[in-house]
Amino acid sequence: MRKHRKGMALVLTITAILSLILTSCKRNEDSWKWRQEQEEERRRQEELAAQEEKKKRDEELDRLEAEANRKDEEPADYTYRPYVWPEEELADYNGRVETLMFHMVISYPELAFDGDDYQKSYDALTVTVSEFDKILQSLYDNDYILVNLNTVWTERNVGRNQRRMVKNTLRLPKGKKPLVLFIDDPCYYESYFGQGFMEKLVLDEEGQIAAYGHDPGGYEVISRDLDAIPILDGFVREHPDFSFNGAKACLSLTGYEGIFGYRTNSISTGMTEEQMAFRASEIEAVKPVVQRLIETGWYFGCHTWGHINLSNKKYDVEAVKRDMTRWQQDVGELVGNTIIYLYPNGSKPDGGDDWHKTGDVFKFLQSEGFRIFCSMGTESFATEKTDISAVICDRLHADGTTLRNSRDKYLHLFDAKEVFDYDVRPDYGYDFGDPAGE
Ligand SMILES: [Zn+2]
Repeated sequence: MRKHRKGMALVLTITAILSLILTSCKRNEDSWKWRQEQEEERRRQEELAAQEEKKKRDEELDRLEAEANRKDEEPADYTYRPYVWPEEELADYNGRVETLMFHMVISYPELAFDGDDYQKSYDALTVTVSEFDKILQSLYDNDYILVNLNTVWTERNVGRNQRRMVKNTLRLPKGKKPLVLFIDDPCYYESYFGQGFMEKLVLDEEGQIAAYGHDPGGYEVISRDLDAIPILDGFVREHPDFSFNGAKACLSLTGYEGIFGYRTNSISTGMTEEQMAFRASEIEAVKPVVQRLIETGWYFGCHTWGHINLSNKKYDVEAVKRDMTRWQQDVGELVGNTIIYLYPNGSKPDGGDDWHKTGDVFKFLQSEGFRIFCSMGTESFATEKTDISAVICDRLHADGTTLRNSRDKYLHLFDAKEVFDYDVRPDYGYDFGDPAGE
């Protein structure tokens, strides 16, 4: 019996222990489940937060995209805003106004100087892009500031029925010297195609003037760094104090092959319907380019329609009248009135002395509204005529000829020795006037 009770106690004890173990297991199991649930909840929350985050990010991206699209739709603001000096920083200026002319610049010297028949003339008449860049920098460093030629003189009454051109006292930033730049023949003549020059002016995707052409590999190029006009635009953008009242340069335009690379010229022998339609489309295409040039400080001069040599006797008054009519029709209509007349090759009419004499051709051109007559010379020279309302101007000209041979005449503007493109120009020699070779 006692043995039996002992056995009972043992069974009970074992049962109790088992029960305890089971309960503990159950509790452990519950606790594990609870933790599992907690973990799941945490993950769910994290996932929700991540989703929320992603949604926010997507919304922000959508917003930015929408904003960008809106910006695309809005016209970009490329308004030309010239630098304005406060009045107290200006001073009277009555000295010389420098006048400096360029032709179109050589974008690809390897094409211009490839040994063909034209090489010599390109060398004589033009500068390379690299030379142009250096000259602009030097002009700026020497405290020159661009002024508009039209602001240098004013036509005034000087007596009964007498009007004359009178030089203005310029108001310029203290320490600055006035400079008028010219780019002659920016017509992008077809004869220049493939010779290392750009082929037309265009508006690039930012609405800025750029030049279009082909690189030596034959690939199309649109650039602001390969042509004088956009290069000067860029230089003034970087150095706003290089331009007074936003002045850039005078563009001297002929008409026989249109302007700025657009074939807007008429054909005197009559045009087919197809030719007329083409001309009309070229005229429409050049209008925004002309508009942008005017907005950004450029102005225009008449360089005759046919780039005629006025020293040639065959260009008498009648011939010059015919040329003038065509210029008005093909160029004047597009760029507006101008009082600037630029003799092609610097050749003067009426026997060559427009300073002391006033010949018939000169009188005719003056009667057409021209007041500033520009030639070329060895210094920036200008004089007002006394017998008629007109000014005679000689311009310096930056080109291979003067770089090689006239360093001293240009030293106040730039030093040919530092500018000269030794690596690319043909070996025609130069004389920098320093026999020491220094
Ligand atoms: Zn010319």
